[in-house]
Amino acid sequence: MLTNDQLSAWDRACFMHPSTHLAQFARGDAANRIVSGGSGVYIEDRDGHKLLDAFAGLYCVNAGYGRSEISDAIAEQARQLAYFHAYVGHGTEASITLAKMIVDRAPEGMGKVYFGLSGSDANETNIKLVWYYNNVLGRPEKKKIISRWRGYHGSGLMTGSLTGLHLFHAQFDLPLPYIKHTEAPYYYRRPDPAMSEPQFSAWCADQLEALILAEGPDTVAAFIGEPALGTGGLVPPPAGYWEAIQAVLEKYDILLIADEVVTGFGRLGTMFGSDLYGMRPDIITIAKGLTSAYAPLSGSIVSDAVYDVLMKGTDEYGVFGHGWTYSAHPIGAAAGVATLALIDDLGLVDNAGSVGAYLKEGLEAALGHHPNVGEVRGQGLLCAVELVEAREPRRFFEPSRKVGPNTVSAMLRQGVIARAMPQGDIIGIAPPLCLTKAEADTIIAATRDAVEEVLGAG
Ligand code: PLP
Repeated sequence: MLTNDQLSAWDRACFMHPSTHLAQFARGDAANRIVSGGSGVYIEDRDGHKLLDAFAGLYCVNAGYGRSEISDAIAEQARQLAYFHAYVGHGTEASITLAKMIVDRAPEGMGKVYFGLSGSDANETNIKLVWYYNNVLGRPEKKKIISRWRGYHGSGLMTGSLTGLHLFHAQFDLPLPYIKHTEAPYYYRRPDPAMSEPQFSAWCADQLEALILAEGPDTVAAFIGEPALGTGGLVPPPAGYWEAIQAVLEKYDILLIADEVVTGFGRLGTMFGSDLYGMRPDIITIAKGLTSAYAPLSGSIVSDAVYDVLMKGTDEYGVFGHGWTYSAHPIGAAAGVATLALIDDLGLVDNAGSVGAYLKEGLEAALGHHPNVGEVRGQGLLCAVELVEAREPRRFFEPSRKVGPNTVSAMLRQGVIARAMPQGDIIGIAPPLCLTKAEADTIIAATRDAVEEVLGAG
């Protein structure tokens, strides 16, 4: 077996890691970790640490680590048929069954699934579907896509443009011209502290309408949003937000893409975030929880109304010219079938709702009084603690103080992995959906102790 020193040397010499400070890593100034195993909500590394993963990898290992039901399904599929493509009508028992299981769980009227590999490529597919749709309808000018500042939709050229976080644009010449951004539904950072939640939601809808009018409604094709903001700060929407936004979209005949890569399959305590917030999407993006990340797989769930237009397009123009070699990969599909069955068998959607409420209450009780805790927020097992220099009036820390990353490092020293979200001093907590109340207590204690270590007892 290779030694840790050998692996670390190769790691720094050969491996270009995503979302990493490349220079510090190469110089050995940034930490590395060689992960070797996992069980339930815990992972283990080669240095012998056992860590409670309160971010479920990248909020994706929803069923928890070490589930033999999923790994056995993968092994069986690999033995029987590791690969065949899905072009021109080919399928496997796993891919066909999974499409049916997804449609059975999806909101009404969402009847077809196109499979991809990652959330990014699924959103890329969605933009192509929307453009094709408008071309078939004879509206070639209707092509712009509106997303929100602080939205996260991937890091490709198109999807990195949709993402509304500066880190993913600067020095990459993004966003591309077809993509426009509107205000984030971030009530804590509302422009006027006197605004109620419904007033702020109406303000967001007004901002959206003003953008549509400025661009020209005939040029705007779709709006994309996560039901609850994820990477941009883990922010559930303010009351009335989606109703207000959808009224504007319907007025100007603009499609809605619900990006449920994080929220799909139970994270908010409902099967989809669209169910929870009364969204009526035309397309839903899924990935992460679909296979609990045991294998890469994503999808675009397409409404029957949109699909009718796509079918008309192929009658007019021939074969639908869009596909990946690995669309509906049998191993990913087998992982998906086993994962969705396990989510039902273990009652993980309900568990996310009940343990999520317990976790949020516990964080509020432990930290709500702290002068540097601006807000504890969450829905299901998507929680955040936002740290501020002062609560009244709200004053944010200088980013150079790295309060968020320092707090997460302090949690790690106590054996709990949380995530310092990329914009703001926001501690992100999104554990596997099998979290128990006792494990939630461990997260709460680690968060409280870390905040007190970094910012004092308050
Ligand atoms: N959409 C959302 C809401 C996400 O959170 C992510 C990833 O975190 C993506 C899309 C992109 O998914 P991937 O990293 O699999 O490309």
